[in-house]
Amino acid sequence: MIDLRSDTVTMPTAAMREAMARAEVGDDVYGEDPTVNRLERMAAEIVGKEAGLFVPSGTMANLAAMLAHCARGSKAMLGAQAHTYLYEAGGAAAFGGIVMTPIRNTEAGELDLDELNEELTRPPDAHFAPSGLVALENTHNLCAGTAVELSHMAAVADLAHAHRLPVHLDGARIFNAAIALETTAARIAAAADTVSFCLSKGLAAPVGSLVCGSGEFVARARRMRKALGGGMRQAGIIAAAGIVALDTMIDRLAEDHRNARALAEGLGLIAGLNVWPAKRRTNMVVFEADGGAPAAVKFAAGLKDRGVLIGARGTSAFRAVTHHGIGRGEVDRAVAAAASAAGEAFGD
Ligand SMILES: *Cc1c(COP(=O)(O)O)cnc(C)c1O
Repeated sequence: MIDLRSDTVTMPTAAMREAMARAEVGDDVYGEDPTVNRLERMAAEIVGKEAGLFVPSGTMANLAAMLAHCARGSKAMLGAQAHTYLYEAGGAAAFGGIVMTPIRNTEAGELDLDELNEELTRPPDAHFAPSGLVALENTHNLCAGTAVELSHMAAVADLAHAHRLPVHLDGARIFNAAIALETTAARIAAAADTVSFCLSKGLAAPVGSLVCGSGEFVARARRMRKALGGGMRQAGIIAAAGIVALDTMIDRLAEDHRNARALAEGLGLIAGLNVWPAKRRTNMVVFEADGGAPAAVKFAAGLKDRGVLIGARGTSAFRAVTHHGIGRGEVDRAVAAAASAAGEAFGD
């Protein structure tokens, strides 16, 4: 099977398994796991922050950050297409009493600055929830995986900071963004006070994410992690794979981007499929099928019969993600399978 559903399907490398077997460990809730401590220092340095916290998932990274930033009943302004708003089970509202306030996302994964400004300038009147946080996402998953421009991030940070609000960046795929923007993760994270990123997507580690910020912020997030049940004991076993991920798997993401461009070009030539543009394409291709839901279901099933898995986005759109283990040969085979499946699903 050529599995293009997500970069989360990546398997740990042999070097990761080796590092896991040899990892020096301790009780991390006591702060005594040397491997976790090392990963947290590495992570903080790579995104240019003071401290880092290892958590089981990107969802918990964002949730711990939101809980550390926002009081109950305060509002967090974030993209209407943000992963945190749509795909994290409403945790910030359910467990933090946080009013998630969606701001329109543009196709480029940016926030509509007029809408954001409108939310920020509501009077300090008893009618309104007080503001607690502004959140960004880069790369932007639901906006075709595009990398968001640094100039936009800086504009959002200026607005938020002018209102004395912190900025959190959901940087689940921040290293993909850094490659697409030809910059570093630290320069991207500079616009944000706090940042989360995933080890278990394109970086191919089996488990884990980090949330980074000031030492004082990370201390609060650490308490939230404990409250959420994310305080793990000999977590160095999995952190060891994360260290290998940061050491060896970042630069190769450029290959995933080249493969995604080839995939987008190939799918774009197939009658019945419409590829969404991405201003700065990373490792994702979102495309829509002509002919509505029935034809789309038939197309996806036909593709599966031909050995290719893709993810569904609503009723007639799909997402294909390139990752470690998907080379140019797999991309070419996936395009050929899509052409054949499209002929069957959309032909007469
Ligand atoms: C995957 C993802 C997350 C959450 O990560 P999990 O580890 O799956 O919980 C958060 N934000 C974005 C943009 C993501 O793509």
